[in-house]
Amino acid sequence: MLWENLREEEFDKAIEVSGGLCIIPLGCLEKHGQHLPVGTDYFEAMSIVKQAAEREEAVVFPIGAWVGEVSCFHSFKDPGTARLRGCVGIKQEILLKILEEICDEIARNGFRKILIVNGHGGNSALLKHFLRCQTYENKPYATLVTSAFAYSEIDPRRLYGTVSARKGEFDYLTNEDMETLKRFSRTGTGGGHADIREASMVMAYDKSLVAQDRYDAECGESNHRTDYLSEIGVESANAWLANYPSSYCAYAPHGASETIGRAMTEICVERLAKILSLIKSDEDCVRSAQMLPKENPL
Ligand SMILES: [Zn+2]
Repeated sequence: MLWENLREEEFDKAIEVSGGLCIIPLGCLEKHGQHLPVGTDYFEAMSIVKQAAEREEAVVFPIGAWVGEVSCFHSFKDPGTARLRGCVGIKQEILLKILEEICDEIARNGFRKILIVNGHGGNSALLKHFLRCQTYENKPYATLVTSAFAYSEIDPRRLYGTVSARKGEFDYLTNEDMETLKRFSRTGTGGGHADIREASMVMAYDKSLVAQDRYDAECGESNHRTDYLSEIGVESANAWLANYPSSYCAYAPHGASETIGRAMTEICVERLAKILSLIKSDEDCVRSAQMLPKENPL
């Protein structure tokens, strides 16, 4: 159920059937090479969340693609030179406030469990910090975070094994798709940003958004500029972007297809639906968020 589609009088019922669970899909607006749209992470998270919330009824909150952590881009005053047009970075402190306000409002409307489903790796640190910030006040609801992706399970090698073992369910995959999965099983994806997984999943979402003739427009391989620091255990600002200045970290995803994306999305939906089922029937997540004894009636 999409929050924005509900009429006012339908909320009580929606809260009841969803076990008080509301989901926030989170992505960002960030360059993904020249072949994928800047909203890639949001589209991926949104399509996984929407499908999972149909299987395990829950309400999905309409957050925008712009709520995501790409704050380092503030330092690039000339997006033309850095070739990063389309990125929108909101400062972390503001994003934390926005997330808190949204969660508080969702709870004021009667939901007691809020699950943020993250589709953008760069959000992970922010979300860890957000969970900690949520403890500063004793919120009357549980704040939970998970990834939108079943990363290891949609790795081409693992996926090839899964779809081979469950042929009947994935009979829409073509011979060419299987060859593509085999090829990427041998080489790996070359990274996780604008790779075969993201290209395929965006195709499954909307094929017209993927520029298949632009896979090789830029190089997705690292220039290893900051490796000397990471090798000695030193983290530095912008390290990833210094290594991948094109904001493209992958082997060119030739062979990516709508059908491969459909299979990958399905695996992620299965994982998320299991999580939703568990949370819907779990009341202790709300009690533990308030450090109440396990048996305490809510
Ligand atoms: Zn991405």
